[in-house]
Amino acid sequence: MLKNNLGYPRVGPRRELKKACEGYWAGTLSRQALFLAATQVREANLQLQKDAGIDLVPCNDFSLYDQVLDMSLLLGAIPERYTPVVTDVANNAEVDLYFAMARGYQRDGLDITAMEMTKWFDTNYHYIVPEFKKDQAFRIFSSKVFAETGAARHFLGKVPKPVLIGPVTYLLLGKEKEAGFDRIQLIQKLVPVYVDILNKLQEDYQVEWVQLDEPFLAMDLTPAQQEAFRYAYAAIQKQCPHIKILLTTYFDALGDNATLAAGLPVAGLHVDLVRAPQQLELLLELLPPHVVLSLGVIDGRNIWKNDFERSLHLLDLAIKERGRNNLMIAPSCSLLHTPFDLEAETKLAGEVRNWMAFAKQKLQELNDLQAILEGNTSLLAANRQAMETRRTSALIHNPQVKARVAALTEKDATRHQPFAQRQITQHARFQLPLFPTTTIGSFPQTADIRQLRARWKKGALTQAQYEDALEKATVDLIRWQEVCGLDVLVHGEFERNDMVEYFGEQLQGFLFTSNGWVQSYGSRCVKPPVIFGDVWRPADMTVRWSRFAQAHTEKWMKGMLTGPVTILQWSFVRDDQPRSVTANQLALAIRDEVAALENAGIAMIQIDEPAIREGLPLRRKDRAMYLDWAVTAFRISASCVRDETQIHTHMCYSEFNDIIAHIAAMDADVITIETSRSQMELLEAFAYFHYPNEIGPGVYDIHSPRVPSVAEMEVLLEKAAALLPAKNIWVNPDCGLKTRNWPETKAALENMVAAAKAAREKV
Ligand code: GLN
Ligand code: ZN
Repeated sequence: MLKNNLGYPRVGPRRELKKACEGYWAGTLSRQALFLAATQVREANLQLQKDAGIDLVPCNDFSLYDQVLDMSLLLGAIPERYTPVVTDVANNAEVDLYFAMARGYQRDGLDITAMEMTKWFDTNYHYIVPEFKKDQAFRIFSSKVFAETGAARHFLGKVPKPVLIGPVTYLLLGKEKEAGFDRIQLIQKLVPVYVDILNKLQEDYQVEWVQLDEPFLAMDLTPAQQEAFRYAYAAIQKQCPHIKILLTTYFDALGDNATLAAGLPVAGLHVDLVRAPQQLELLLELLPPHVVLSLGVIDGRNIWKNDFERSLHLLDLAIKERGRNNLMIAPSCSLLHTPFDLEAETKLAGEVRNWMAFAKQKLQELNDLQAILEGNTSLLAANRQAMETRRTSALIHNPQVKARVAALTEKDATRHQPFAQRQITQHARFQLPLFPTTTIGSFPQTADIRQLRARWKKGALTQAQYEDALEKATVDLIRWQEVCGLDVLVHGEFERNDMVEYFGEQLQGFLFTSNGWVQSYGSRCVKPPVIFGDVWRPADMTVRWSRFAQAHTEKWMKGMLTGPVTILQWSFVRDDQPRSVTANQLALAIRDEVAALENAGIAMIQIDEPAIREGLPLRRKDRAMYLDWAVTAFRISASCVRDETQIHTHMCYSEFNDIIAHIAAMDADVITIETSRSQMELLEAFAYFHYPNEIGPGVYDIHSPRVPSVAEMEVLLEKAAALLPAKNIWVNPDCGLKTRNWPETKAALENMVAAAKAAREKV
């Protein structure tokens, strides 16, 4: 049984590539030095995989920025606006064109925008979206895949397995940049270029296997898209008879595409048996006996040790049907989504550590599973023991938390009175003007504030010194908001590093790694908290700051919390219970904080849920079930308060049409959303649905330093008032202001308040 790896993290164990890229962009590092850093990361990865006994070692999984952008360059799909940079490639280098596409190009009098970026399926990785025109042409442009294949072959002393995104997935990842065609129609122009690439890999580098990633085979497909798969793979098989294609799927089950996938003329098929173990039996029936089946049994999306018993069950099933010779064993997907090496975590408690595996450890798990199949019983015993301690450890299991979740009823997720009633009570209490103004929570996190926190963490500042400085920043902000004339104030979130980490650090059941970085996009990495055990809240988390802030103003001060679904979505989540159960535990912890804020006299409490949409399952059939439990978790967190207490929520993505009913079901008294970039178009969905509760459509884009004029915000407010009842409309920016500077923030909010006043006069 061959050991197959799909891809390896590429920022380097100490984020070496991040530093090198950023140095190159800043002009402080030479191109040579950048390439050297890249080579070192690549070679270290190859060495590691070679040492781990991986049979199919991937190459071209490395990327300086993004593997989809690599494909666009390989296939010559370079948008026209980069022509000045392309023609300059002779003088510059391909890498400058590449980074121009990723990040924009502002040089030598040129100002060219970057390509768009979007989420890679349901991960937190973001890719650069290919752009297609109706008459799009493709040709081999970049030689990166050939160079990396050659270098890897030389380094390993054997042929590596080049990784490419398959032709259908490549097209589906992209976007039409003009009307009048469907990008899938480009498949006939695209396939010949793939044929050339594959043949060149085979002829020049004697490559045996090539991995073509086609995760779209595990998504909902139209008949035309299914047909594109048949067409592309038949053509490749016919014209590249000497190459073995390993058709690679992940992130979901093949489902209704199983027959299609099993019928494609390829040498191997990889499936994700972590997300979708149930698909194995059907595949064993459908897949022709000569096709090698790669069994993705090790979770490439998480940091947990593999449960060997569970994997062996799947492996045994496959071996019984097909024998060992045409099976491979593999991680479920590329290890890109896991941190590098658990050994770098010197501060983790031994017991917890024994339940975890990062990328390097996952390679070892492939070996261990194979050794166990060959009769090594002690490895299995050790794994069983780790699993057993995890099932029973008092570190993880808190019977009270479990009992509380089990006892939840519909009543816990329901406010006392319906919204219409609450609105009357709340309006009587708050006495706000029409079109009340507010902000989303954070204010500029300037270098001062960040340095303050860094010094406090290092011990250079005492707790009292740190809090004094935060208090001063908070009071200054309150005074400024009063002078500015905002109606509902916030405390500014100066005490928070990050909206998830801040809560995770105060909740039980969370841990933080020192080096658990994963790539988010380009050189940007995130270090998600780990939810390893039952979650509960030992003490108040935000009451101190909200109470302090409310005590310093006569105006209403919003309490500010992160919602349960967002905390879940931006963490590594335990895999020993359904996500919905963990969501409910988080919901109860937030609910307790909501109750504590209410008790402390806070009358408005905002529970941010910017990540609800990110959790949407990839397949339409699974979406309703997710939205049900996600909305319930939010409602549990919010429903303990009296009618007169106003619950706000905030979401910042620009698509609501398909989930508007669920957003309404959250039943927040006020929702603030991102709308300014779409000129209020998004509000139409809310209007069409007769969204019943109050809503604050963002009137200016906080992603840009630009200060919007009073007039343009007035226009947006007029549009909003034409779509929704005036008494339901709030006025606020699109999102939090923590990435902005003070001068632009102040100017923009002053204009916003003026726009709201002007709008009031007109009613
Ligand atoms: N309250 C948070 C802030 O203002 C919300 C951030 C977000 O939606 N991502 O920063
Ligand atoms: Zn936001």
